[in-house]
Amino acid sequence: MTNRGRIFVISGPSGVGKGTVVGQVLKNVDNIYLSVSATTRKIREGEKEGVNYFFKTKKEFQEMIDSGQFLEWAEFAGDFYGSPKFNINNYLSCSKDVILEIEIQGAKQIREKCPDSILIFLAPPSFEALEERLIKRQTESVEKVKIRLKKAKEEMNETKLFHYLVVNDDLKEAVDNVLGIIRAERCRITNVK
Ligand code: 5GP
Repeated sequence: MTNRGRIFVISGPSGVGKGTVVGQVLKNVDNIYLSVSATTRKIREGEKEGVNYFFKTKKEFQEMIDSGQFLEWAEFAGDFYGSPKFNINNYLSCSKDVILEIEIQGAKQIREKCPDSILIFLAPPSFEALEERLIKRQTESVEKVKIRLKKAKEEMNETKLFHYLVVNDDLKEAVDNVLGIIRAERCRITNVK
């Protein structure tokens, strides 16, 4: 009997460390793949096309929406982000698990469309810690950091939509907790909703 793979959604406010946690998780568990999203935001130093994101113009992104290519998409802090269906479906149909590292509106859509998905909320130890991280990483302008922090305040009230909450205070502990969730879900027999 072949089983379809599972979707693990890792969500949480910008700057919480989703990318770092997911990077470590992928190194420590087999048979799980990261879905590379499409975005209209500007490429950051060190990022690579097709590795971090598929970088699109707004027109290209809109065409992808219109032709139904996204499993979910959302506007976040003035840019568009979406998870292309194509690779996700290929992985799932080959019994491979997929991680979607996305913001909360996208997580809500996945919950609706794919009710068997496992939703993990990654939270900062405090709002101040998040603020410090976003400012220190210097990837956004002061104005954009403000927008992301405002958004983070709203997002922190959405934890009830998720199956699991992992606090990213100590990185190793957070990674271990996510790995523990993945392993436990792989052993689960019933689909508890
Ligand atoms: P960043 O610009 O910092 O790379 O990403 C901004 C936010 O968009 C982050 O919270 C990130 O997880 C989220 N994001 C990245 N890809 C997607 C996607 O495909 N869909 C949605 N809904 N959010 C995404």
